[in-house]
Amino acid sequence: MTDEALRMETVAITAGRPSPYPGHPLSTPIVLASNFRADGAVEYARDGGTDTWQALETAVGSLEGGDAVAFASGMAAAAAILESLPTGTSVVVPADCYAGVRTLLNEGAAHGRWKVTAVDITDTAATEQAAWAADLLWLESPTNPLIDVADLPRLCAFGRDRGAQVVVDNTFATPLLQRPLAAGADYVLHSATKFIGGHSDLLMGVVVGRDPAAAAPIRRRRQLAGGTPGALEAYLALRGLRTLPVRLERAQASAGVLATRLAAHPGVSRVRYPGLPADPGHARAAAQMAGFGSMLAFEVVGGAGPADAVCAGVRVAVAATSLGGVETTLERRAKLAGQGHIPAGLIRMSVGIEHVEDLWADLDRALTAATA
Ligand code: PLP
Repeated sequence: MTDEALRMETVAITAGRPSPYPGHPLSTPIVLASNFRADGAVEYARDGGTDTWQALETAVGSLEGGDAVAFASGMAAAAAILESLPTGTSVVVPADCYAGVRTLLNEGAAHGRWKVTAVDITDTAATEQAAWAADLLWLESPTNPLIDVADLPRLCAFGRDRGAQVVVDNTFATPLLQRPLAAGADYVLHSATKFIGGHSDLLMGVVVGRDPAAAAPIRRRRQLAGGTPGALEAYLALRGLRTLPVRLERAQASAGVLATRLAAHPGVSRVRYPGLPADPGHARAAAQMAGFGSMLAFEVVGGAGPADAVCAGVRVAVAATSLGGVETTLERRAKLAGQGHIPAGLIRMSVGIEHVEDLWADLDRALTAATA
């Protein structure tokens, strides 16, 4: 049976395994090697990769439907895409997207490397207008941290029609909820640090091109700029990926319950979660995603002070940056530099796989105490 015939939950288990010969291990081992004996297919890891990296790349590539290249972090992956662009490129980017990507783009623009236009990605007409003559349309959906949803099918088609490359940061959705390459994107990016790894114990990134030819310039950037993954990290990321379907199913179900209850809580003025029928991204997400994910954000009544108190008051959830782990994390993104567009009382929550009633009791208590 080919990978195409299997369901995604099964591909996550079967893809990227060693050859099925008697006596072979079920999982590709951790290959600790920089160099290999001469005259083989690979002589140096930075040039040709290792079996451990390739196992992860095969699995992520199978899930996204393309050719994957693994990097040391999500930012190394993003940098590889941007560095492969000619000088003077014009880039359109969501005003709300991962702050590190915005900063990388802004610093490159300040050095004359490219021109950057930031747009409200929920406004499809305005995005198309801004991207009319762009070389690269960078999309992130749902966005970090406002959980905005872009019209991916339409914007990917627009990019193709206009001859612009389209990159979709698929970190929040994962390939289980949306497959941007099938919608027409040129590249998919993941911070594999998040849902793919899933255990807050590694940094990794992946770029997936539509085919080996599209992935070749990205592979070349890794070879020359050297953002190579670690052997242990690649092994752990693939081990994490094996359980992504069950982790996501549980976390997503809990996110739906928590979002609904938070929306009714007197200490919360707004919940941002596309699974809520009243959310502005609901119809779009329902049409283009296989689920609403486990990332949400909510605004605490009273603003920054009470929101800080909620983060300080939780005992089951963890006040910490990052997301996509088995642990529920809360973060105050508004406190970061360059995040002036974020409402002062916003808390971004990555829902983990703890029991939902323990999470709710924890949140309800911390919110009630902070906003009483
Ligand atoms: N993209 C998104 C949506 C992210 O949230 C992050 C990190 O938080 C990144 C990219 C960067 O990934 P990394 O931290 O693995 O470099």
